Amino acid sequence: MDKQSKLKKLAEEMLADKSLPLSTNLVFGEGNIDCEVMFVGEAPGEQEDIQKRPFVGRGGQLLNKMIEKTGWKREDVYITNIVKRRPPDNRDPLPEEIEAYKPYLTRQIEIINPKIVATLGRFSMNYFNPNLKISRDHGKIFRMNGRLLVPFYHPAAILRNMGLINEYEKEFKKLPKIAKKAEELLKKP
Ligand code: URA
Repeated sequence: MDKQSKLKKLAEEMLADKSLPLSTNLVFGEGNIDCEVMFVGEAPGEQEDIQKRPFVGRGGQLLNKMIEKTGWKREDVYITNIVKRRPPDNRDPLPEEIEAYKPYLTRQIEIINPKIVATLGRFSMNYFNPNLKISRDHGKIFRMNGRLLVPFYHPAAILRNMGLINEYEKEFKKLPKIAKKAEELLKKP
């Protein structure tokens, strides 16, 4: 089965899985399924729930701008979230929600098989590596199971503190180089 068909089947399985928490629309993810970089956010917000697309609100607009700074377009990367339905009033996802959606995100990452998982925000970063701290580790490169993990601040955090925007932009601009060097970085002892 090709990647596209596998992802379609995965989304159908999610829609049929009545044990999954939260009852809003499924926001599965979108983008280039042959991407080098897969962005993983926290959970959809109001706009995302309405449009059934990830990162389409104000945070999403900033994310698009940052992606364009790399020389890529939004369509060149893949974008999704850990929890694929909107928590009520945009509250933080609960540990049991993250756990429930985990097997699906794991399979989604395996199917897409990106070199780099770029996390957006603390939740997503700690989902992959609980020992990291966003204020200390944003923009750094970590290895995890044959991929690179590059944590970024959540775009909403930058919108709340625009003093961080220049550094944010610089970190995004490093992504194409990191992608080029990925094989080499992953081979290092
Ligand atoms: N915040 C997220 O973490 N994900 C989205 O899709 C939108 C906002």
